[in-house]
Amino acid sequence: MKSLFFNSLKEAVSQVYGKDVAIEKKQTVHGGDANDAYKLFLSNGEALFLKVNTISNADFFRAEAEGIDAIRATHAIRVPQIHAIGTDNGYSFLLMEYIDRAGARPGFWEKLGENLAVMHKSDTAIFLNNGKYGLENDNYIGAGKQKNIPKTSWIEFFSECRLRPQFELAAGYFDSTIIRKANSLLDNLDRFLYEPEKPSLLHGDLWSGNFMSDENGQPMLIDPAVYVGCNEADIAMTELFGGFDSRFYMAYFAAMGAVPGYEERRDLYNLYHLTNHLNLFGSAYLSAVVRTIERYS
Ligand code: ADP
Repeated sequence: MKSLFFNSLKEAVSQVYGKDVAIEKKQTVHGGDANDAYKLFLSNGEALFLKVNTISNADFFRAEAEGIDAIRATHAIRVPQIHAIGTDNGYSFLLMEYIDRAGARPGFWEKLGENLAVMHKSDTAIFLNNGKYGLENDNYIGAGKQKNIPKTSWIEFFSECRLRPQFELAAGYFDSTIIRKANSLLDNLDRFLYEPEKPSLLHGDLWSGNFMSDENGQPMLIDPAVYVGCNEADIAMTELFGGFDSRFYMAYFAAMGAVPGYEERRDLYNLYHLTNHLNLFGSAYLSAVVRTIERYS
């Protein structure tokens, strides 16, 4: 489903609950990293969730809405209903269902793992007109651009659309030895990675800030950077900043099956996110990036 585009927030809200309904109050929601977020209290007693950015970043919300809709199409896990994207007086917005979060219910982690496995097993042909990996449109990883040019090889996709663009952006941080090692790593990725038996729709940015529990304490995914890839790239990301609960991994691998050697590939998949962090947030991430390049080259 294509999200409806509006030139006014008021009109976008009217489209959800009718013309008589007005925004009575806005309350800041903390916890995001790229956008400003608000709970909108409406005159009919309902609430909506609003994300806001500059006009020049309006494409973030086109990409986020498409990503949410792609995950919804797998019927594997709940995602928020998207009501509208648009621009208004000097800003761009994404308007969606407000989720009144409750504490996670017993079985939350297992369900998150099982649901993610269902998503990773679902048919990906609907997301690509040609090729096996990638997506029809580019999107964003945080505030960074993410290329999704479809390829028939996963290893080629990971090299050309993931690592290489990040290495090129980071070139100013690297000395000539690291540049040589990074290029050699790109040439030798097939020594470390394999072509999956089946491609998977990935969330693409699966850290602990991008899932939440809904009003029934059940898991939901938010804020994706979707593309079709190898399932291990999503699992690797869950481990980048501390890891999810062990019940998540038990349930996920029980449902999905595991390919031996994942632990040796994990940091290579996360090199993409680490280099993106280097490019977005600066040199605090440089030593981790360099260490990982050296380890694999
Ligand atoms: P950003 O794009 O800035 O990272 P997020 O999508 O992560 O923003 O949202 C910011 C915070 O708002 C999240 O940490 C989450 O707690 C909360 N949130 C996200 N989506 C919803 C929603 N639909 N309803 C209620 N709260 C939400």
